[in-house]
Amino acid sequence: MASTLQAIDLHTGLENILITEDALQARVSELGREIGAFYADRHPLLIGVLTGGFMFMADLSRSMAVPLRIDFMAVSSYGNATSTSGVVRILKDLDRSIEGRHILIVEDIIDSGLTLNYLIEVLRGRKPADVRIVALLKKKRDRPVAVEADWVGFEIPDAFVVGYGLDYAGKYRNLPFIAVCAPDLSETA
Ligand code: 5GP
Repeated sequence: MASTLQAIDLHTGLENILITEDALQARVSELGREIGAFYADRHPLLIGVLTGGFMFMADLSRSMAVPLRIDFMAVSSYGNATSTSGVVRILKDLDRSIEGRHILIVEDIIDSGLTLNYLIEVLRGRKPADVRIVALLKKKRDRPVAVEADWVGFEIPDAFVVGYGLDYAGKYRNLPFIAVCAPDLSETA
C-alpha cells in the first residue's frame, strides 16, 4: 500500500504497523453495522473521549445507520508519559444532560481500564437509560480493575501504540493506521 509506506517514511519513531488502514476501516465498518443494528430505534447518544477517540468516532458514527447524537468529553490520565498515572480529571464535560438517554461511550483504547471505569461511574450517576461501551483497542494485560466493554475492535499486545487518533507527545494522530512506537521514544518523537 503506497500511501501507508510513504506515511511511515515521514514518521520516524515508529517500530511497525500493527493494524493497517484497510483492516481498521473494515473492522470499524463492521462494528458500526453491528452496533447500529443493536440500537435500531433506540436513538443512542455517542460520547467520544477526546482527543484519541476523535477518528474512531468519525468513522464509527458514519457506519451506524441509525439516528444518533454525538457529544465529547475530555479527560486527562497521561500527560506525556507512556504509563498510566491512575489520576483522571474531567477537562471538558458534556454539553447536555444524559438523563434517560441510551449512552454509548466511544473509547480509543483500554489500557489499565481506570479511565473507562471512572467515566462509567460518572455517567451512570447522571441517570441515563443505559450505558454501553465500544473500545477500538484493548491491550492484553493484567488489570487492577475488571473492565466491561460491550464491543472491542481489536485486542492488541501490551505495547505503546499511536495513529488513528492516538498520539505520543501530540504527534502521530493523523496516521490512518495503528503503529507501535519505537522503544526509545524520547529520541524519536
Ligand atoms: P487507561 O486508563 O485504560 O490506562 O488509559 C486510557 C487512556 O490512556 C486512553 O484513552 C489513551 O488516551 C491513553 N493510552 C493508553 N494506552 C495508550 C497507548 O498505547 N497509546 C496511546 N497513544 N495512548 C494510550
